[in-house]
Amino acid sequence: MKRLLLAAAAVATLSIAGVSTAVLAADASAPASAADLAKAPRMGTWGFDLAGRDLTTKPGDDFFRYANGTYVDKLTIPADRSSWGASGQLRELSDARSRAIIETASKTPNAAGEAQQIGGLYNSFMDEARLETLGAKPLAGDLAKVKAASTHDQLAALQGTTQGRFGIGVFGVGIGPEAKDPTKYAVYVGQSGLGLPDRDYYLTEQFAAKKTAYRDYVAQMLTLAGWANPAANADAIVAFETKVAEASWTKVQQRDPVASVNPMTVADLQKLTPEFNWKDYLAAANLGAEQNIIVGEKSAFPKIAAIYKATPIETLQAWEAFHITDQASPYLSKAFADANFNFRSKTLSGQPEQRARWKRGVGLTGNTLGEAVGKLYVEAYFPAESKAKMEALVGNLLVAMKARIERLTWMSPETKQKALAKAASFTVKVGYPDEWRDYSKLVIRNDDLYGNIERAGAFNWDYQVGRLHKPVDKKEWGMFPQTVNAYYNPQLNEIVFPAAILQPPFFDPEADPAVNYGAIGAVIGHEISHGFDDQGSQFAADGSLTNWWQPADSEKFKAQTGALSALYSSFEPLPGAKVNGDLTLGENIGDLAGILIAYDAYHTSLGGKEAPVIDGLTGDQRFFLAFGQAWRSKLRDDALRQQIASDPHSPAYYRVVGTLRNVDAWYAAFDVKPGDKMYVAPEKRVRIW
Ligand SMILES: [Zn+2]
Repeated sequence: MKRLLLAAAAVATLSIAGVSTAVLAADASAPASAADLAKAPRMGTWGFDLAGRDLTTKPGDDFFRYANGTYVDKLTIPADRSSWGASGQLRELSDARSRAIIETASKTPNAAGEAQQIGGLYNSFMDEARLETLGAKPLAGDLAKVKAASTHDQLAALQGTTQGRFGIGVFGVGIGPEAKDPTKYAVYVGQSGLGLPDRDYYLTEQFAAKKTAYRDYVAQMLTLAGWANPAANADAIVAFETKVAEASWTKVQQRDPVASVNPMTVADLQKLTPEFNWKDYLAAANLGAEQNIIVGEKSAFPKIAAIYKATPIETLQAWEAFHITDQASPYLSKAFADANFNFRSKTLSGQPEQRARWKRGVGLTGNTLGEAVGKLYVEAYFPAESKAKMEALVGNLLVAMKARIERLTWMSPETKQKALAKAASFTVKVGYPDEWRDYSKLVIRNDDLYGNIERAGAFNWDYQVGRLHKPVDKKEWGMFPQTVNAYYNPQLNEIVFPAAILQPPFFDPEADPAVNYGAIGAVIGHEISHGFDDQGSQFAADGSLTNWWQPADSEKFKAQTGALSALYSSFEPLPGAKVNGDLTLGENIGDLAGILIAYDAYHTSLGGKEAPVIDGLTGDQRFFLAFGQAWRSKLRDDALRQQIASDPHSPAYYRVVGTLRNVDAWYAAFDVKPGDKMYVAPEKRVRIW
């Protein structure tokens, strides 16, 4: 419900968009059979789809096309998606499996415990007739509170109550491990208040039409909510958010963990921003006893607070009412849900059709009760042997990372020692958590969707507040087992691989080892390397924000990462929309180091022997093809534009062609020569880890 903040506490994810020829028809409305759900199909006979290549393209000219061209040419993005490709296939499979779990619970009479919660939430979402009858009624209580907040201080207090509930604040608050001492939880506050995906949407010409559409959407939502003067209020709201956007830090500024971590007392924060009543805000968020706080975008705070105070209360009330309505829309009647889809998915991401209701219901239930669904998912769909094999694979990758650090020629022995200590202290989590979240206190009712969502949000917020100042829970997971993704968390120095990504085309215990190392191996290497990217390298082995670098090594690191940033900034996926090399730097470092570590580990696994040739392809060729295949996907133009502006991950195409041009072994594997379009002279290739 809330957008969060906290660059320093943010985890770096893999974020694979899109995917492939569906395992299951994308528009399947009937549940898939048990056989369909049992296993993700292998690509080809040894893990790679040979027919998907485009052999008319030279590998050195465009490796993405060489590996995936025929597949991509034939690929149609389903109407209810903004992207599609290799991981979309797995997401679709995950959804179908979750559906089987959730619908079983929903049809169980007198279900109890988690089955009642899972089934009840899903049923409350699927009961469209009831939602039609209710119309805007579920909003009435929340909107009445907004109307009653008739001063700036009262509205500040109301913003404090939106934690876990529908609504927004000009500042956001969150709880995470303390930056300097990540053994205990601390309170963070950061900039917030915008309804568009990034400040660029308010301030740059390329998004001017989206901003106009947003203004119309705000007016439409206010009309549906029955709020007075929707047109005039929409103009004022967009003007207000535009000022907040101007004052806000860019996503690149937010990537600096040192600048983003400003511990201060609440009294000092109040002096910094006299126009905003923190006492009432924090008290309303159940944080009234807090004396100390970590402030994110410090220089933006006084500006945002001043804009807040200078804005008429009527505009701020309408702004709050709009955001409550906007966030609640997917859980209200069709008029609200369709309007929300039309703007948020169709206009902003180019997705022509709304997803089937059951898919949305499965998504909601799987996110809200993620570990309850995940527990059943793992029992049904995650073989124990996959966990054991994956743990062994991760172990091999960590050994390879340590060996690369030892071999670095640019780094001093002092810094190397610290880097090795960090590599030696990674925590590895595979498949599912050892301890599951307890949802037993969460009340879910079959006939109260709006209340279910707000209670679930409040339940999560209470959980966060309840552990403040207590020891950090190192067993906790930041993703669910059924999520097709992976992440690195710098404050726990951990790499985490949910069950659902441990399937073809990423991982297949029976596939050619070159494929596993090139696909999931590169993913593992990517996550390990986040510990050593432009952000992760500022956190020490114990997860604390501590500079462990000798100054000269730091300079050399910055020179190399600067070159990588410049390379990606030269890519222009759409006219006028260039990749932001600084925004995507951490992910691009992860991709480059990741493939190198995976390659080393693959060769170690061969034990000095030559890999067999299969279908005329050497082991190295299969390794790089599997890497390319993992990224095969397509994206709608609006979604691509949104990704470029707001996502730290480079578009999939560039994750392949931007990475491989810096990898010596790729040149050797495909005989890439000067004159080939991706060719970079050896001395100009970026070398970091
Ligand atoms: Zn990543």
